[in-house]
Amino acid sequence: MIPVEEAVELVMKEIRVIGLEKVDILSSFGRVVAEDIYSGWDVPSFDNSAMDGYALKSSDIKEASRERPTVLKIIEEIPAGQMYKRIVCNKEATRIMTGAPIPPGADTVVPIEHTERDKDEVRIFKESKKDDNIRASGEDVRTGDLVISKGTVLRPAEVGMMASVGRAFVHVYQMPRVAIISTGDELVDVDNELTKGKIINTNRYTLMSQVRECGGVPMSLGIAGDTEEEIEKKFGEAAHADVIVSSGGVSVGDYDLVRVVLKKMGAEMKFSRVAMRPGQPLTFGLMEGRPVFALPGNPVSSMISFEQFVRPSLLKMSGFRKIFRPVVYALLQEDISQKPGRKCFLRCTVSLKDHNYCVRPTGEQGAGILMSMVKSNGLLVLPEDKTDLKAGDKVRVQLLDKSFESEENPNYG
Ligand code: AMP
Ligand code: MG
Repeated sequence: MIPVEEAVELVMKEIRVIGLEKVDILSSFGRVVAEDIYSGWDVPSFDNSAMDGYALKSSDIKEASRERPTVLKIIEEIPAGQMYKRIVCNKEATRIMTGAPIPPGADTVVPIEHTERDKDEVRIFKESKKDDNIRASGEDVRTGDLVISKGTVLRPAEVGMMASVGRAFVHVYQMPRVAIISTGDELVDVDNELTKGKIINTNRYTLMSQVRECGGVPMSLGIAGDTEEEIEKKFGEAAHADVIVSSGGVSVGDYDLVRVVLKKMGAEMKFSRVAMRPGQPLTFGLMEGRPVFALPGNPVSSMISFEQFVRPSLLKMSGFRKIFRPVVYALLQEDISQKPGRKCFLRCTVSLKDHNYCVRPTGEQGAGILMSMVKSNGLLVLPEDKTDLKAGDKVRVQLLDKSFESEENPNYG
């Protein structure tokens, strides 16, 4: 049996990115970019007006005021998206819209609210200095600038930036395809009849969703009954996946045959017991270089071992650098007591009170009690040697979801 932290290191040592693929930038959101992106041009690519108003020479309106406006001749009008035709000379002005190119000769824009038009003349009421209200070409990005570096997670801002520098396609890291195998004679899927002695194949549904949650592509291979032949057949079908995840059949019962089959199929086994509760029978190996995670069968054990081992692996394979859940220190709200010897992952609810994280276990913690996961938004992690903790103690908590987002409109206050 090896400690959890060591087991995680052993797994991570074996995990590599799968490869690259070229995608349309509209499909790149949330992916990790696999190349440095440089700009091939200036953004904006031409000087343009930041205001609706008049483009003119700043030297013409130095004395302009409400009482003594400067009068200029209007020579043309430039809407956004159009080019100018005239050069602005002394005592002239061009009517210009936001985003339209600054005509040659003009060096400032006077906003419309400081002007008054009279046929083909305009009265200017206020001075405007050289470069005021002009967006200079290249003020956002210059030709040759590095705008997004390899390894960045693409958010809406980065997708917009790629468009802005003219990139329609981008290389990103591939997402792993994950084969999911459930083992057990007792299992039936939710759309089949639940006869006496059978249980629902819950793990298929949680594992598929957990894979999706970290961006992987789940492929359910269905249920293998508890015979070596059936299990071997399913693992054989998984040959085209990047990762194999199975559940059940790894404890020490008479029908727990997954390890036997993996060895028989030539898998290189790395470890097959971890000092954790729940999740102890977790088994990890490589089959023809591909990671295989044989998770325990109990629904909570399977979810928690996925969290600790499979999730960071899938993220690393997809190019992410931040692959672990955030950890906070929280004030325990009630006494707890655990058996020593294994790291415990207690399902808990975390909340913020007066700028402190507070945490409380979600009640019954059995490895089959899926409600303990339904109620939780975190995992309280107790070290092997810490058995008794008191209300008020500080404990480590892994945050599992978006619980700290809010229902309140954040723009008040
Ligand atoms: P095992 O390790 O195969 O003995 O499984 C441990 C416990 O988890 C048993 O009670 C199984 O019935 C249950 N179990 C195994 N696989 C699943 C599954 N896919 N969905 C729900 N429960 C499961
Ligand atoms: Mg079983």
